Amino acid sequence: ATPMAVMVGTGLGAMNGILFKNASALEDATRLNVVVFDKTGTLTLGQPEVVELALAAGTAEDDLLKTAAAVEKFSEHPLALAILKRAQGLALEPAGAFTNVDGMGARAELGGDTVLLGNAKLMALDTVDMNGLEAASQRLQGQGRTVVHVARAGRLIGLVAIADAVRPTSAPTVTALHARGVQVAMLTGDNRATAERIAREIGIDIVLADVLPGDKAAKIKELQAQGKRVGMVGDGINDAPALTQADVGFAIGAGTDVAIESADVVLMKSDPFDVVGAIELSRATLRKMH
Ligand code: ADP
Ligand code: MG
Repeated sequence: ATPMAVMVGTGLGAMNGILFKNASALEDATRLNVVVFDKTGTLTLGQPEVVELALAAGTAEDDLLKTAAAVEKFSEHPLALAILKRAQGLALEPAGAFTNVDGMGARAELGGDTVLLGNAKLMALDTVDMNGLEAASQRLQGQGRTVVHVARAGRLIGLVAIADAVRPTSAPTVTALHARGVQVAMLTGDNRATAERIAREIGIDIVLADVLPGDKAAKIKELQAQGKRVGMVGDGINDAPALTQADVGFAIGAGTDVAIESADVVLMKSDPFDVVGAIELSRATLRKMH
């Protein structure tokens, strides 16, 4: 056996925080041939931080941060928290008429202007003037950053580049799944360039990017229609329908209640590597039963 298999066989088990909620999940887990991981909060720590700003000509760093933070104050998205943290100590104008644009960004009124912020797709849909920042946006996405584009009155004023560290066990999880004949996919609402950069770092086979929250379950269904038996690992409210649709749904223990309720297996240590332990445990258990 490989050292990894030995480690998994000895190190992980039912008493190690892998909670099977039903017996059929234990049996179904033996037959998975692809495991789909949500990106944010599952393969990454889910603690995004602002790492770089790009400014349009005539915009000061504080203006960009104040504008973005005034809108994000009303959002509960993890990216909003990162921006608010970076804008700490700056006086914010009161924004009004906040609306969330699901899976893309947010919009609000600020000092008589409309402020729109979010991904590049949202900027294109609203025909925002990119104000010379296209190349910077593409460069940052190519580096695996999630780029929050900030537009005021139809014109980009700057970019906020955000990074969310990959969990140290994410790449070893992919390696261990490959060694067991299981393919690995990443599912995310983030854009393709950012997702592919992170996927490459982790060794992911299939990248499902730009997926709107309501479309995550359909992506699982598509894989099943190709004859695959699909495991799904997630943490968010957005992931719940996909966890239900999957042959086996795994919830990150630190995730939302809805994800935990929708899953067949709960990974109490919030470690993606425990999916390998779960598969290993299920295979060992079934060998003993037969
Ligand atoms: P994820 O799969 O990363 O949880 P979401 O569906 O929550 O994806 O969001 C998809 C993308 O939409 C994000 O990567 C981001 O670019 C953009 N987005 C969504 N909400 C916000 C927000 N409040 N502020 C900035 N960007 C946002
Ligand atoms: Mg998530």
